[in-house]
Amino acid sequence: MEELIRSQKQYFNEGFTRSYSFRMEQLKKIKKMLETFEDPILRALQFDLNKSEFEAYSSEIGFLKSEIREQMKHLKQWMHPEKVKTPITHFGSTNYIMKEPLGTVLVIAPWNYPIQLSLAPLIGAVAAGNTVILKPSELTPMVSWVIKKMIQHYFPEQYIAVVEGDKHITQQLLAQPLDYIFFTGSTSVGRSIMEQASKQLIPVTLELGGKSPAIVHKDADLDLAAKRIVWGKFTNAGQTCIAPDYLFVHEEVKDLLLSKMKVYIQHFYGLHPLENNQYVKIVNQQHFLRVKRYLSEGNILFGGNFDERNTKIEPTVMDGVNWENKVMQEEIFGPVLPILTYSRLNEPISRVNKLPKPLALYYFGENENDQHLVTDSISFGGGCINDTLYHIINPYLPFGGVGASGMGSYHGRASFDTFTHKKSITSQSTKFDQKFRYPGTKYGLVIV
Ligand code: NAD
Repeated sequence: MEELIRSQKQYFNEGFTRSYSFRMEQLKKIKKMLETFEDPILRALQFDLNKSEFEAYSSEIGFLKSEIREQMKHLKQWMHPEKVKTPITHFGSTNYIMKEPLGTVLVIAPWNYPIQLSLAPLIGAVAAGNTVILKPSELTPMVSWVIKKMIQHYFPEQYIAVVEGDKHITQQLLAQPLDYIFFTGSTSVGRSIMEQASKQLIPVTLELGGKSPAIVHKDADLDLAAKRIVWGKFTNAGQTCIAPDYLFVHEEVKDLLLSKMKVYIQHFYGLHPLENNQYVKIVNQQHFLRVKRYLSEGNILFGGNFDERNTKIEPTVMDGVNWENKVMQEEIFGPVLPILTYSRLNEPISRVNKLPKPLALYYFGENENDQHLVTDSISFGGGCINDTLYHIINPYLPFGGVGASGMGSYHGRASFDTFTHKKSITSQSTKFDQKFRYPGTKYGLVIV
């Protein structure tokens, strides 16, 4: 591992990664790599998660292709030094911000979108001119293996390397003199990553999880709310960091919303989702048992069946839960949606504000004052009004958490900025000198 870091640092210091043409070339290679390896990627996603081609393409490969396009389209402009104003105190000089790559970056990825969440940060790090060490999740071993093979096929190790393994391997990587750590995973592991990074003062981005609420007010378009919540919750069998974790619904519209949600669950996944071979499984036995335990904590309104052998759990909606239940305390990260009711909008607002800041929040309702009330009075990473998940696929919106749901952001311009140091330069004139700043003159320069 020391040798790997040493060779990456040497490669970086030789300056290979810095030019515009080199970076564009590498982005093109990643695009080509995704095309060439599309079939093994699809098979691996199916093997590890039973991900259908539709889901694999829409939430992993398609997303990455659009991210590459975005970086290539703007790279020249983003790399260009940014001129800033010259205050009177700096008369005669020019002042600008250089965009400098950070160096050797470690990307640690989770298993739920194992291709997207490994390669999207990689694309940003490459566009910004860094060398990269990528550590995919050991819980999706086939995907991890395919990632290793395809990166090896296209890139030398001193530029991009894949290190496979579990937390023990990650610990060893964290002990190396890295220039940046980009971590996606749980809040508890994120805490430990930051602790270890602090020993060497390595800066971090932490893309974490948490409990993201959806709120459906009485003036919502209930049919669309039902359709979009079902889609956002049960895509990838609920194993999505920004999936609606639980639902607050106004008591007057609960029954109607539920009946519509039932229709959409059946429409998307059939009458027997466990037999639907397009329906994603829970990643492993341990997570299956964790999610299954939630089923006994409330009244199941629909769903609730499971298939232990294939680690699948039906899309399930339940009520009768309280905040002491594990299902309301832990991030669910599975196809179980607990529902709570309220009568006044300030009830969900004050409840959510008592909890750690969520990664996402979704509000459904037509009245604009109420929409603003919710978005103004709750702090959360990002979210949607009258939709779920959609904010994540807009490259013009930085994606990230706040507080316990993370720090820093990426996607589009934010990715380039995350992996770039902004180096401020004052380029001074030598044609004249301003005497007033030196000692011995009557009026000293006031430096604020
Ligand atoms: P995890 O935190 O268990 O693991 C993430 C990565 O860290 C893996 O590569 C794993 O090998 C490594 N790791 C695990 N324990 C470690 C330790 N003690 N020291 C060092 N490395 C360690 O997360 P997961 O189960 O893979 O993913 C699910 C979690 O990730 C959920 O909480 C979810 O919300 C979150 N997530 C967040 C985002 C986001 O963009 N914010 C996206 C996807 C998932």
